Amino acid sequence: MRILLTNDDGIHAVGLCALRERIRDLGEVITVAPATEQSGVSHSITYQHAIRAQRTGSDDDPGWTVWGTPADCVKLAILELLPWKPDLVVSGINLGLNIGVAALYSGTVAAAVEGSMFGIPSIAASMEVFEPEDVTEAAKAVRRVVETVVGEDAPTDVILNLNVPAASRRPRRELRITRLRMDSFSERFESYSEDGCRHYWLAGEINHGEIDPETDVGAVLAGHVSLTPLRLDITAEDRRAVLERMNWALPKDEA
Ligand code: MN
Repeated sequence: MRILLTNDDGIHAVGLCALRERIRDLGEVITVAPATEQSGVSHSITYQHAIRAQRTGSDDDPGWTVWGTPADCVKLAILELLPWKPDLVVSGINLGLNIGVAALYSGTVAAAVEGSMFGIPSIAASMEVFEPEDVTEAAKAVRRVVETVVGEDAPTDVILNLNVPAASRRPRRELRITRLRMDSFSERFESYSEDGCRHYWLAGEINHGEIDPETDVGAVLAGHVSLTPLRLDITAEDRRAVLERMNWALPKDEA
């Protein structure tokens, strides 16, 4: 099996290194990851200047450092850097959960989305971090999911968004197949004044309240590993007919 490994925390991130060590023996693994932290950049790409890339790692642990976004890394890897088309793209392990709407802002998830755009099965893996040993535990869980995805011929037309709760949320019972919880966060800005400007930091927390156990948030809060299948085509197919019935007549051209 040939695996492209990437992330959004940067090529030296502990989550990526732990995962690489844990899955190396599954096949050939090549890491192509951002030079700097790219968390929260979502699916942004670089096209207004050249993307710089440098070979890193070693012969038995090959990789490329890319001065670009996670989506850049996957695109560049598949089109230019890799000697083969990967059988699987794995992004992560992100330090921090990508559940609910966080999945939409996430560079980790976007890298998997990019892999899926090439028709390659893609997994985004994220974890809740409380203790250092959580990284090892999460890497074991991700490996198990990789084995299942490959061994059981998982659907290839979806992105698999995996979230592993902290080990302290015991007992961690099982893996749940979930859906995104879209009202997942309460957000606000914290601000201060300096140099004649107002400065704002985005802050927020998980919106507790009624939590559907079938959602990713519900699963993780209950101590389960959450696996959400995501689709690339965000067309609201069921709303097309409603819009078709409305009057969209455009102004006539002047004669
Ligand atoms: Mn990140």
